[in-house]
Amino acid sequence: MRYSKYFIPTYKEIPAEAEIISHQLMLRAGMIRKLTSGIYTFLPLGLKAVRKVENIVREEMNRSGAIEVLMPAVQPAELWQESGRWDFYGKELLRLKDRHNHDACIGPTHEEVITDLVRREIHSYKQLPINFYQIQTKFRDEIRPRFGVMRCREFIMKDAYSFDVDEAGADKSYEIMYDAYTRIFRRCGLHFRAVEADSGSIGGSFSHEFMVLANTGEDEIVNCAACTYAANLEKAEVRARADGKDHGKPSPKPLEEVETPDVRTIDELTSFLSTGPDQIVKTLIFNSDGNVVAALIRGDHEVNEVKLKNLLSADQIELADPHLVEEVTGAPMGFAGPVGLRAKIIADHAIQGMANFIAGGNRVDLHLRNVNVDRDFTVDQFADLRMIARGDTCPRCRGEILFGRGIEVGHVFKLGTKYSKAMRAVYLDEKGEEKLIFMGCYGIGVARTVAAAIEQNHDEDGMIFPIPIAPFEVVLFPLQMYQSDVVAAAERIYKGLLDQKIDVLLDDRDVRPGVKFKDADLLGTPLRVTVSEKTLKQGKLEIKGRSEKTASLIPLASAPAAIAQRVKELYGSAE
Ligand code: ATP
Ligand code: MG
Repeated sequence: MRYSKYFIPTYKEIPAEAEIISHQLMLRAGMIRKLTSGIYTFLPLGLKAVRKVENIVREEMNRSGAIEVLMPAVQPAELWQESGRWDFYGKELLRLKDRHNHDACIGPTHEEVITDLVRREIHSYKQLPINFYQIQTKFRDEIRPRFGVMRCREFIMKDAYSFDVDEAGADKSYEIMYDAYTRIFRRCGLHFRAVEADSGSIGGSFSHEFMVLANTGEDEIVNCAACTYAANLEKAEVRARADGKDHGKPSPKPLEEVETPDVRTIDELTSFLSTGPDQIVKTLIFNSDGNVVAALIRGDHEVNEVKLKNLLSADQIELADPHLVEEVTGAPMGFAGPVGLRAKIIADHAIQGMANFIAGGNRVDLHLRNVNVDRDFTVDQFADLRMIARGDTCPRCRGEILFGRGIEVGHVFKLGTKYSKAMRAVYLDEKGEEKLIFMGCYGIGVARTVAAAIEQNHDEDGMIFPIPIAPFEVVLFPLQMYQSDVVAAAERIYKGLLDQKIDVLLDDRDVRPGVKFKDADLLGTPLRVTVSEKTLKQGKLEIKGRSEKTASLIPLASAPAAIAQRVKELYGSAE
């Protein structure tokens, strides 16, 4: 490609609206432009990077045996009503009506559409297993679109759906996708980690998120320094043992009432009573699908609502509003406690190890001291209810738990029979009996992967693309455009590189060398080849890797082959 005939509208200044580096650089390098909130146009350079990710994804999906299809963006409401998600999905689902007043939505995901296809087309165990995928545009009306194409409303996703005769088959399909994802992100040249993620009511650890490691990532993740355990924060298990031990507990002291005027929060309480938060038990009242549940958590711990929701097998849980709190406890917010409480009580394991603790008194301005489980109240169930915290050890091997941040670029998920049951996707087995199909779903955010790669690979001058997803592999400069021999040599190399199928950008603009160097750094092209008057006299060219400090010289005569060799080496080291 010739720069002069191409379209790369770069900015010098950092765009004020862009908070994170990948967003800033994608705007500055002329890769994307915003149309409206969370909706972007890909300019040629951005599209090239997207297509490179897509190609890797497509190759690896095909290699894994998945079959490409293309499903529509607009989906009829009936399918979503059948699956039950029309009411459940909430405001991220963009709903519309057609001229016949039929409800429809713009697909945020395609479980319903693919299940509908499969229930019509697949009837026998002989047609299974099968895995369909597509690379297609999704729409999710995100509450807070931000960070450019990282979290936008309209975005390109690769989504795949596997169909199997039974659970064992579904596990195998899951494994195949997990391995394909590992190859995909490795081939993209990314540092990533697959972490266990919440799989809701499906249970088990049958959901993994593929996280690109980056400090600006929206997700907090943990991993063990000693073993392979890794999970996102909401999924991370907390070992029951340390929290749960109750040997050596002090003997119970008499229960005392303490007047605590206007003292409601843990901070207020610790300073008022001159005690540590680990001596206090918080009582959180939840509304779980219309039922009231009290969750007890140690004062210095944080409740994990996902764990609570899964434990209760609830569709939805939320903290009770002040009105409900008052109704249940008889006191305003801030004074709830377990003693005398008429609600199901679930307590975190840590409470098992506590004695003579402080808790709310279910009366305004009252707390209780020396509260003890069993003597003063009954716990219906002890469970792991809290967020993992610094200092906790690995739930598998007791190793050190490290905290980090990541960008979720992919997600693999075992669905079981959730959709096949709701939408009656069945097959006939060998005996002619009707059985439900087992499903899995697997997504990759294509443009988010590009943004994540930039987030992970940049310096103060611009992007440093891993070569497999770089818009161009090589940028070639004739430094003095007024020198015909310089231009002619550059043209020869350009042609030679094109013949070798190298994706090369010839910067043939008649601008100052400084401008070319700056733009090359901004664009993050992995290899830069400079043809200048000075080196040409020695029969040489300058070549420099984007992240190298200094350039080296290569003979002009063998140039295209030597450059192609460097490109090949970069591919080797990217993976
Ligand atoms: P997130 O938690 O980031 O909202 P999600 O769990 O909703 O993601 P999935 O439904 O698993 O995402 O979608 C599959 C993939 O699509 C994600 O792993 C991510 O890479 C991408 N993706 C999801 N939402 C967006 C978005 N708003 N903008 C860009 N990519 C997205
Ligand atoms: Mg989301």
